[in-house]
Amino acid sequence: MIPASPLALDGWRHVYSGKVRDLYVPADTAEGASPAHLLVVASDRVSAFDHVLSPGIPDKGVLLTTLSLWWFDRLVGSDGGRGIPNHLAADHALEGDEAVELIPDAVRGRAMLVRSLDMQPIECVVRGYLTGSGWAEYQASRTVCGIPLPEGLTDGDRLPEPLYTPAYKAPMGEHDENITYERSVELVGDDTATALRDLSLEIYRRAAAIAEERGLILADTKFEFGYDDAGVLTLADEVLTSDSSRYWDAEAWRTGTTPAERMASFDKQIVRDWLAANWDKQGEPPALPDDIVTRTRARYAELLERLTS
Ligand code: ATP
Ligand code: MG
Repeated sequence: MIPASPLALDGWRHVYSGKVRDLYVPADTAEGASPAHLLVVASDRVSAFDHVLSPGIPDKGVLLTTLSLWWFDRLVGSDGGRGIPNHLAADHALEGDEAVELIPDAVRGRAMLVRSLDMQPIECVVRGYLTGSGWAEYQASRTVCGIPLPEGLTDGDRLPEPLYTPAYKAPMGEHDENITYERSVELVGDDTATALRDLSLEIYRRAAAIAEERGLILADTKFEFGYDDAGVLTLADEVLTSDSSRYWDAEAWRTGTTPAERMASFDKQIVRDWLAANWDKQGEPPALPDDIVTRTRARYAELLERLTS
């Protein structure tokens, strides 16, 4: 299940590979000790339905890291909102920043140097629009993660207000599980659960407004947070990327008449849709055809271009 052997990087020791990212600690970190810093390297691997697919999407790791860094920068307060603390250990935009110099050339552009946090086991999902697993649950019970919703909504509709729908971040190899807010309180305590919810909704609202100025809908997204050494709840992981979020073209959404037209996506929905149509979810998934790879790469690149230029 855990993919390809990670790169050997001078000065760093590989400690973990998720479906998409490889984590390294400084090579001189004692076994079992918790390091101050981590190197998070985004590969070109793409996952869907909890499987890593092949081939990867060329340049995906660079595109997603560039986008994460851009969003972290918006959220430190440069959009006028309050600063959201993030896990970056250095100013990645700054030439000559000593910390950034620690990033090996082999992974420059696709790596983030971050502070190692005490990660909270909650995937903080915010949904502004109804689709995906939310739409599936709504059809069955008129709820999303147990939250009752009005009758008459269809796939891709805007929700009356953004919903915080947490998931339990399952240990490696297990599936994440949607949970109620009450369950998140049991898992991490009242104070942390409240802070995770409030921060997530605040970041979603700000990011959705920034996306809207660029003709994009941020339909939903997922954040992860951890506590730093000083006990500050800190935004971690990748943020507002096309892996962790659904982005649609706002004009297409307004004028489209079918779900496919309305949800013209800049994310890996192309991959999900192709896989859903070509795989019965038994055994290993089939290889992605070239045109799906090419189109996915183009959409990822277009999202970056539209947001950041
Ligand atoms: P999935 O493919 O479902 O996302 P995953 O989250 O385990 O699985 P990756 O996203 O590929 O895998 O790996 C990134 C890992 O790094 C995650 O476990 C994430 O929680 C962790 N992480 C991100 N930022 C930090 C940080 N600042 N300190 C400690 N761990 C972090
Ligand atoms: Mg992850």
